[in-house]
Amino acid sequence: MVDEYRILVEKLHFWFSDFNVLKNVNIKFGKNKITAIMGPSGCGKSTLLRCLNRMNDLYPKTRLKGKIIIDGKDIYNDNVDIFKLRKMLGMVFQKPSPLPKSIFDNVAYGLKIHGIKNKKEIHCKVEKALKDSNLWDEVKDKLFKSAFELSGGQQQRLCIARALAVEPEILLLDEPASALDPVSTAKLEELLESLKEKYTIIIVTHNLQQASRVSDYTAFMYLGEIIEFGKTAKVFTNPQNEKTENYIRGKYG
Ligand code: ADP
Ligand code: MG
Repeated sequence: MVDEYRILVEKLHFWFSDFNVLKNVNIKFGKNKITAIMGPSGCGKSTLLRCLNRMNDLYPKTRLKGKIIIDGKDIYNDNVDIFKLRKMLGMVFQKPSPLPKSIFDNVAYGLKIHGIKNKKEIHCKVEKALKDSNLWDEVKDKLFKSAFELSGGQQQRLCIARALAVEPEILLLDEPASALDPVSTAKLEELLESLKEKYTIIIVTHNLQQASRVSDYTAFMYLGEIIEFGKTAKVFTNPQNEKTENYIRGKYG
């Protein structure tokens, strides 16, 4: 169904202590596609996203079973370079979370962590990331002002710019628009459409309209399982599972 995929998740189970959060998750994320993951609060969407860049490794007492293959390699093999992996999978969170630094330094931050010292190179990459995140025109005259002076929507695009600056290949977005007003949300959605050309994008959202507007594929999760997965138009117009249908009709929150 997904012709060309970038990430293959096979029989994935995940536990926090003895709480089984993800149960036999099987899904393929298409290359240069946007896949939306929707489902009620607490069903495991963020946990699944964090399995993909091994962010869950940061929590104590977790256990994972199954496989996540990216570009043919199991990312849970012992010899995987986690630093490189996290560079490849950029992540943006629900609440815009700029650092208490200037707009410029927020975007340059990851570059410096990754050892880039050449000022000209940093400048070029910051400018490119701000252009790619459709923010450049709004901030080019105040690059050295605090990031906190930006609106919520601008801060969220700044966080996307920060993620893009280190040249990831896959973008993980965890409810990126849930704190934004409709105009900023529309701008963010427009941005995703333009980023798809270069990136494989996975977006968690519990906004159904958003999932149907921006994504090529949609997965519906419920209590740690993927109940339904398919082309977005099909999932929304002709869901195969009753739970998906109930969710789309607004029966659970
Ligand atoms: P969603 O993103 O779909 O709202 P999450 O993936 O955040 O859901 O959470 C799935 C389940 O795992 C929830 O029941 C949540 O309480 C639990 N959970 C999430 N993070 C942790 C954690 N760090 N420790 C223990 N339980 C957690
Ligand atoms: Mg979540």
